[in-house]
Amino acid sequence: MAVEGVEKELSELRGTFQSGKTRGIAWRKAQLQAILKLISENEDSIFEALKQDLGKHRVEAYRDEVGVLTKSATHALHNLEKWIAPKKGKLPLLYFPAKAEVMPEPLGVVLIFSSWNFPISLALDPLIGAISAGNTAVIKPSELSPKCSSLLADMVPRYLDSKAIKVIEGGRDIAGQLLQQNWDKIFFTGSQQVGKIVMSAAAKHLTPVTLELGGKSPAIVDRIHAADLKVAVKRIASAKWGACNGQACIGVDYVLVEKEYASVLVESLKKCIHQFYGDNIKNLDNIAAIVNKHHFDRVRNLLKDPRVTASIIYGGSIDEENLIIEPTILLNPPLDSDIMTEEIFGPLLPIITVNKVEESIEFIRARPKPLALYAFTKNEALKKRISLETSSGSLVFNDTMVQFVCDALPFGGVGPSGLGRYHGKYSFDAFSHEKAVLHRTFRLELEPRHPPWNDFKLDFVRLAYRFDYFGLILLLTGLRRLFRSCN
Ligand code: NAD
Repeated sequence: MAVEGVEKELSELRGTFQSGKTRGIAWRKAQLQAILKLISENEDSIFEALKQDLGKHRVEAYRDEVGVLTKSATHALHNLEKWIAPKKGKLPLLYFPAKAEVMPEPLGVVLIFSSWNFPISLALDPLIGAISAGNTAVIKPSELSPKCSSLLADMVPRYLDSKAIKVIEGGRDIAGQLLQQNWDKIFFTGSQQVGKIVMSAAAKHLTPVTLELGGKSPAIVDRIHAADLKVAVKRIASAKWGACNGQACIGVDYVLVEKEYASVLVESLKKCIHQFYGDNIKNLDNIAAIVNKHHFDRVRNLLKDPRVTASIIYGGSIDEENLIIEPTILLNPPLDSDIMTEEIFGPLLPIITVNKVEESIEFIRARPKPLALYAFTKNEALKKRISLETSSGSLVFNDTMVQFVCDALPFGGVGPSGLGRYHGKYSFDAFSHEKAVLHRTFRLELEPRHPPWNDFKLDFVRLAYRFDYFGLILLLTGLRRLFRSCN
């Protein structure tokens, strides 16, 4: 699409927003219902596109995309009226007589960038927030999941209001053109590198951004009972290989474990991989594919360093023709190697040993703040230390990835793993401005707030700020003194 095309689409969206149509609750509800209809009537096409782009099994496709969206849109529909309603703002007596409210208002025309690993849900889930809040929107899907991108471009205008919601497909060129425009909000899901490009483009127009980024999300495994370890290992393996084959932002990037317990963990992991996938890594029915040759090469290159190759203790075989890398476990690859400094985003799992599990805290603190942190432990003192001494987008004890499907919890990163949050009410907030509205009357004018200044007025203002609840008394006393001094 040429620049003029982008500008034309944007101008139509701006016109729609300015018409006030998208502010009405009826419009918002109709669009959310249309998203539910789109998902249910196109479930098979969505499964098929996800199979073709990423080799995702229907279970993964439902769990991470169709199911997530159905839940999210239903939750928004049930809560919309509550979210939209202005909230009463409590004022100190000093302001009497007055009332105040916090009124959410839509931001305007918003741009949503999505990534390829969950290409349907990461495009439509933010859109649910944008619609709930009453905005018009453009979705720019990732060009690396082309079937899903063209499916979105086909479905969205058939179900949703095409004067208010558009899909613009394309790669970097189109992304660059979109970023030159003046948006009211940019919601970006993707890598840290492109996140920086988005943020600097947004800065030119002082456009607010939400950046849903990635990074290295660790899992700490404490010494636990054998039965608990079995559960922990399943959950780790599912978050590594069972969620887009390691290509998930909140998947487990690496594991921290005590040196003397590492072999127990590794043996359990090996058994679990075998139980999940059998011996034949070419049986791709149960495991998603690596998205393309570029990412296949990127992941393979992480193994090229001879020091890293030497640390492989399980798997490691590669089928270049079919772009398959076997689920692979590495024990203590060097900490300065790419595999331990870059986000892996693939089926490799480094196990890093520490002398005492508590040392994991320092290990994590010495690195960029992760998007997710997982810890498998029953030790309450350790849990407390991890909660207080580490920082991450989310922290989950004794499970993985479940935080993503909790509407009540904010989803987002901190520091380099992201900026802002969404899901549930947080999605509505991400696309709203909370406007402070204060209603005053013309009665009870406080003269000490106006010049000419004198010491009495200074004392009055000082007291007024200090004693909120005695504000009214203060006000009346002040007024009496003021009237006396005027007479
Ligand atoms: P990416 O940054 O390469 O691409 C994301 C989007 O940006 C795509 O729509 C793409 O077309 C666009 N883009 C690419 N290059 C651009 C450029 N130069 N200028 C402007 N736009 C450009 O990310 P990806 O490879 O699609 O996704 C993988 C990354 O996303 C990983 O780091 C992962 O952790 C992260 N991620 C985060 C979340 C989350 O919710 N926090 C979810 C999924 C993925």
